[in-house]
Amino acid sequence: MQNEVVSYFLELVAIDSESLNERGMIDRLKIDLEELGAETFEDECHLQTGGNAGNLYGYLPGNIDKTPILLCAHVDTVKPGNGIKPVIRGGTIYSDGTTVLGGDDKSGVAEIIVGLRRLKATGEDHAPIEILFTVSEEIGLLGARGFDISRLKSSFGYAFDTHRVGELIIGAPSQRSFNITIHGKESHAGVEPEKGLNAIRVASEAIARMPMGRIDFETTCNIGIIKGGAATNIVPNAVHIKGEARSHNPDKLQKLCVEIRGAFDDIIEKHSEKGASMDFLCKEEYHNFALEENSEAVQLAIKALRDLDIAYTTGRTGGGSDANIFNAAGFPMIICGTGMDKVHTVDERIEIDELIRGADFVLQLLRHHSEV
Ligand SMILES: [Zn+2]
Repeated sequence: MQNEVVSYFLELVAIDSESLNERGMIDRLKIDLEELGAETFEDECHLQTGGNAGNLYGYLPGNIDKTPILLCAHVDTVKPGNGIKPVIRGGTIYSDGTTVLGGDDKSGVAEIIVGLRRLKATGEDHAPIEILFTVSEEIGLLGARGFDISRLKSSFGYAFDTHRVGELIIGAPSQRSFNITIHGKESHAGVEPEKGLNAIRVASEAIARMPMGRIDFETTCNIGIIKGGAATNIVPNAVHIKGEARSHNPDKLQKLCVEIRGAFDDIIEKHSEKGASMDFLCKEEYHNFALEENSEAVQLAIKALRDLDIAYTTGRTGGGSDANIFNAAGFPMIICGTGMDKVHTVDERIEIDELIRGADFVLQLLRHHSEV
């Protein structure tokens, strides 16, 4: 017989839920949470984002008088994520190769719900538990940004949203995005190029001057998109550039952003007589966080993993997730591995044993939290 967490996971991946289209998942999870005895509430963050469902919050009362803990996962997937047809081969679940699998983050959702069901089934006393299923994580953490964190009664939480079970992410970088437009001057490239100013050339000079790639062990920077020009016989008058910078150290990030701005300013200045100008937008996407290894939240997770003989690691990520939003707002949140692998590709997969370990981990975490 198929393990409960496996069959439940397969049911969830069959529900289409690319970002902004999470209605099916939220409706399903509302039913599943209420079946467990949780009170639920769906917020209206989607009215701001254009999605069709809000974040789903659940409160499962306990019979041990204690502050609750929060379990969190996101319900949206990246594209291509519609019509997912999972294939099981040799103890691993894959997509059929035409879509992602949706293990990011339905493995987290499944492990949470099945961990809760197993706790309920034992009839054990337990402390109250808060559950939060967010929407639109993959398109800029929009659900988490729209959620009213003051609603939470827990003092810390766990986002089930990274790779190997046992992996605990306790720090993440700040990230800023760049949106730059360089303006030059249009002219006919074959007839009177000297009357133009080539915006692509100006942009290249600025990009060549700015720092790029790995800056140091905790700081990175990238230009990822450049677009401009209309035809080979036109000296282009505009180029759009998009990039980002990240650091675990906010001071270093600030310094890096000043350097990047300086490189562009210098080059625009150099070509100003010929009419160069620019629009330069730098926006903080999310703020860094770092939890202490000896904090209660981290120690509780380590204890649960040790009980289960699951090797654990604590570390930092270079990526952003809902946890950045919560931590930035002063609510400590660790990111826990679920077994998801090769996410955001059509090769995405998850080992069945990892799904099972993930649900075991949720159950053990809740048990330890319920100890007085
Ligand atoms: Zn994710």
